[in-house]
Amino acid sequence: MKVVALAGGVGGAKLADGLAQVLPPEDLTIIVNTGDDFEHFGLTICPDLDTVCYTLAGLANPQTGWGRVGETQQAMSSVEVLGGPTWFWLGDRDLGTHLERTRRLRAGDTLSAITADFCRAWGIRARVLPMSDQPVRTFVQTNEGELAFQEYFVARRCEPAVSSFRFDGVEQARPAPGVLDAVAAADLMVVCPSNPWVSVAPILAVPGLQAALAAKPIVAVSPIIGGQALKGPAAKMFSELGILPSALAVAQHYGGLLRGFVFDEVDAAHSEAIAALGIMPLVTATVMKDRTDRAQLASEVLAFSSQLLAA
Ligand code: GDP
Ligand code: CA
Repeated sequence: MKVVALAGGVGGAKLADGLAQVLPPEDLTIIVNTGDDFEHFGLTICPDLDTVCYTLAGLANPQTGWGRVGETQQAMSSVEVLGGPTWFWLGDRDLGTHLERTRRLRAGDTLSAITADFCRAWGIRARVLPMSDQPVRTFVQTNEGELAFQEYFVARRCEPAVSSFRFDGVEQARPAPGVLDAVAAADLMVVCPSNPWVSVAPILAVPGLQAALAAKPIVAVSPIIGGQALKGPAAKMFSELGILPSALAVAQHYGGLLRGFVFDEVDAAHSEAIAALGIMPLVTATVMKDRTDRAQLASEVLAFSSQLLAA
C-alpha cells in the first residue's frame, strides 16, 4: 500500500516513524509543514522538517521530541555571554544542519533537494518532502496583534489568545517536486496527529494540494486526547477559536476530507457522533510513548485503512 503522510513536528514525526517502521521505504512519502520555518542569525531554520528527519534517523532528543540527542550547547552559551538572542535555543549539532542548509540555499539549491540529500546522509529511506520549495511563513493573529509563528510559539510560549492564522507566501507557493506525484500514486493519505491549525493547515493551503487530495481516501489520527493536547497549543487554539477541544472537534474540523478517523480510547464516547459525520471511527490507544507504540499505532492505522478501502 502506497502511503503519503502529512506531518508537522513532534506529533507528526512520531507517527511518521511508526509508518517508516512498518512500511517498505519505497511505499512511504512524508510531506512536512514548512510554515514554521524562519530566519534567525541569518540562517534558514526548518523546525518541522528537522524534527521529522531527526526522528526518522534516530537522532532526535527523546526527552523533548525536537532537537538532537547528545546535544551540546557551546555556541548558544557563547551567544549568551555576548548578549545575543537566546530565546530560540539551537544546540551545536543542530546548528550544523542549519549552517549547511543555509549555505546550499544561498548557492541556489532547493529545499527539497537539500532535504533529500540530508535524508540520504542520515540513512533515512522513506521519502521526506517539504510541502513547498517556496517560502511560506505562518503568522498568528492574537489579542496582542499579529505575531510571526516562532515569536508566538517560542518567545511568547503560546500565551497570547489566537483569532486567526495567515500563511504568508502560500498563494505563490507550488507543491515541492514529487508532492503531487506522490499524492497521485498514493493508495492512502494519513494526516498525522499534528496541530490542525498550524501544522496541517499550511500544507493543505498550498495551491493544488486540496484538489489532489479530494480524490484520495484520507485517514487522520487525533492530536487531541481527552480534550487536551499532549503538548503544545492545539487544544488551547480550539478553545480560543470558540470550539470545545475534543477528538470530535478535530473530526468536524477536517470534515468531508476524511474517510476514517483514529482517536483515543478515552474518547470512545465520541464514536457515534463521528460515525454520524459519515467518517468511519477507530478507537484505540493513541499515545506513543516509545518506538514500539509508534509502530503499533501505525499498524493499526494501516489495517483499519485496508478495511476501509476494501469496503
Ligand atoms: P509541533 O510542530 O512540534 O508542534 O508538532 P505537531 O503539530 O506535529 O504535533 C503537535 C500535536 O501532537 C499536539 O497537539 C499533541 O497533542 C500531538 N501529539 C504529540 N504526541 C502524541 C502522541 O503520542 N499521540 C497523539 N495522538 N498525539 C500526539
Ligand atoms: Ca511545528
